[in-house]
Amino acid sequence: MPLVALRAMLDHAAENDYGIAALNVNNMEQIQAIMIAAQETDSPVIIQASRGARQYSNDAYLRHLMMAAVELNPTLPVVMHLDHGNVPETCFSAIEQNFTSVMMDGSLEADGKTPSSYEYNMKVTKQVVDAAHAKGVSVEGEIGALGGIEDGHGAGLSEEEAKEHLTDPEQAEQFVKDTGLDALAVAIGTSHGAYKFAKKPTGDVLRMELIEEIHRRLPDTHIVMHGSSSVPQELQDIINAYGGNLKQTYGVPVEEIQRGIKHGVRKINVDTDSRLAMTGAIRKIFAESPEQFDPRKYLGPARDAMVEVCKARMIAFGQAGNAGKIPTKTCAEMVDFYKS
Ligand SMILES: [Zn+2]
Repeated sequence: MPLVALRAMLDHAAENDYGIAALNVNNMEQIQAIMIAAQETDSPVIIQASRGARQYSNDAYLRHLMMAAVELNPTLPVVMHLDHGNVPETCFSAIEQNFTSVMMDGSLEADGKTPSSYEYNMKVTKQVVDAAHAKGVSVEGEIGALGGIEDGHGAGLSEEEAKEHLTDPEQAEQFVKDTGLDALAVAIGTSHGAYKFAKKPTGDVLRMELIEEIHRRLPDTHIVMHGSSSVPQELQDIINAYGGNLKQTYGVPVEEIQRGIKHGVRKINVDTDSRLAMTGAIRKIFAESPEQFDPRKYLGPARDAMVEVCKARMIAFGQAGNAGKIPTKTCAEMVDFYKS
């Protein structure tokens, strides 16, 4: 089947109380790892690429790799999503490159760093919603700005700024009304990258109750959790055991994500865990077999390690077993849905 729209996939997840991992890619092995994991668990797939990934891999390579993924896995519904579009033009160029879903992150200004005003966010998000929906493409927006409460990672916000930019549920309600988007990313204390929390997060730094309040106000809106890698200890340990130098850190526990899924979370962004798995596998090979120089001998095990992480998340989030049950819709088929 061709690439499908995010909206129909998330609607099915909502009706059946599960979440879907949105996994970042920038090369062939990562795309293969996700597809293998999905095949082995019968999972629907959300693959996403950021602006940086599009630059690194080049849109044409990405587009054709995604077409290969779809061709080789005809039974799996696959969404191609743009992660953190910084301006409407980035979203529009993604749509031209066959992305079936885009994120317009207007919570930050075009520089991707400075928290923006509500009016700016609303205006750019609405502009993308209008253009994307006319083509049946799904849209994710963000309200509040992501950044760890503890250390202000993520958008580079300080701890105080991050606290100020947590999602306000009342404003979230207004934002959905004003923009008509399909999925809403919220700031609840998570951040991008490996260094999320200095100790296992408690409720004062990971504000899951905000999700419950947002879901209560917006029961029909699909909530997205960003920065939701769990940063497993064993993956940190493998990297450090083979010459790596990661500071001890803590991610978002899978149980907290599962709690979110009970309250409207449908898309869960995971990138760091895949990176850690691949890096650990490569470090191990380099340390144990320094005579190796064939990239297949280390990229293959790296891919295998990412498959395991992806499978674990697909099972934990509940998407496993649902690939064949989703009423798949292409973007062309979604045009009428948005007109009505
Ligand atoms: Zn993000």
